Amino acid sequence: MSVHDLLYLVPNSTPPKVVRGEGVNLYTDDNKKIIDGTGGAAVSSLGYGNREVIESMKTQAEKVCYVHNMAFTNEPAEELAHILVSQHPDVFARAYFANSGSEAVEAALKFALQYWQLRGEPERTHFVSRKQSYHGNTLFALGIGKMVSRRAPYVGVFPKVTSYVDPCYAYRCKKEGETDEQYVYRLEKQLEDEFLVVGPNRIAAFIAETVPGTCLGCATPVDGYFKAVRRVCDKFDILLILDEVMCGLGRTGTFHAWEQEGITPDLQTNAKTLAAGYQPISSVLVSHRVYKAFEESNAQLANFHTYQAHPLACSAAVTVQKIMLREKLVDKVAAIGKYLDEQLHKTFDSHPHVGDIRGRGVFWGLEFVKDKKSKQWFDPKYKVGALISKVGIKNGAFLNPGAGTYDGVHGDHIMVAPPYIITKEEVDTLISILAKSIDEAIASLP
Ligand code: PLP
Repeated sequence: MSVHDLLYLVPNSTPPKVVRGEGVNLYTDDNKKIIDGTGGAAVSSLGYGNREVIESMKTQAEKVCYVHNMAFTNEPAEELAHILVSQHPDVFARAYFANSGSEAVEAALKFALQYWQLRGEPERTHFVSRKQSYHGNTLFALGIGKMVSRRAPYVGVFPKVTSYVDPCYAYRCKKEGETDEQYVYRLEKQLEDEFLVVGPNRIAAFIAETVPGTCLGCATPVDGYFKAVRRVCDKFDILLILDEVMCGLGRTGTFHAWEQEGITPDLQTNAKTLAAGYQPISSVLVSHRVYKAFEESNAQLANFHTYQAHPLACSAAVTVQKIMLREKLVDKVAAIGKYLDEQLHKTFDSHPHVGDIRGRGVFWGLEFVKDKKSKQWFDPKYKVGALISKVGIKNGAFLNPGAGTYDGVHGDHIMVAPPYIITKEEVDTLISILAKSIDEAIASLP
């Protein structure tokens, strides 16, 4: 009997079986080496097989693996909260831990709802989100986001508390001749109009990814966009939740991606690189404004998970974040990110099917087009992003694909988001396999 008979997989699919990882490379059971160009799903910031993280988990496992977080605290959870909050003690008051990005988003949404109840405005139950957004897989988080394919089977059951505005997506949505200021003004006006239509005193929060990953392939916000968002939220006293599950903790070249936007959030989520994949863990960073409401009412967030603030997961995250700080990996991301930026542009600027190259740090997206001049996309039935990714694995590089980049249905991208430790030589290898795979995949289309 093959493993495929028991393990739930996409029917009739046979993904390669990984048996080992080392540095930026994965190795399969047939000894194939695959360079991980997206660190899994932008998770593996330190690469695979980091001895220091592994040893720290062993040490913690000898002490205690699990304690019930409703009755006890634990050493690594406290240390992790300290590391995260102390990066910006003026912004954040507390750190809350969960197990996945989706759970962190759910918790952030609940923090917002409960905040308004504590403030005496319980009618604030509506959220404004963005078209082409992804905030996780659990029903509430999936409902708040707009990922068409994953939402499709469940649309009938999502809570009816969300409306959507355009994201900042300059490649396709900034008009011909429009300046950044004019584009930002248009988006600002749209957000304000949406707030007014819903009724600002019914809105709990606006949620956005600072640099969006899954649905928009690293489409970086234009200058001033988030300042405008913060301005409108402040005008109507609406909370701002920044979802940095994918783009946070160093990936864009600063510890938090919002540091490059000149604003601060009221609530922030993180997950993927928190423990760099060595353990599943996520966090919500809670601003002084939000925490004060809970503190003054002596209230607890009504949201509990059995494995919340799990000691082993927290110990892995503590070591990962200590390495980040000690090795100044955020600066290294900025440096290797500059090289990645140059090489992506050098290799693909003149490629007839690479319409846009965008990103920051080690968080880059390539958007594919059938025709570069008209920006016409490939027929969605060919799933070009997924096809390039599949050919990439065959050729020895993993790159995470995205589909529906334009409107949830049309448009394709892949993400280049390697571990922070990637070297220039490894960037060269990755880009040459990527170039070969793009050409091979597109040549195979009918
Ligand atoms: N939020 C964002 C921005 C994400 O990219 C993701 C996952 O890709 C999530 C939330 C959900 O995280 P998880 O898959 O860990 O539940």
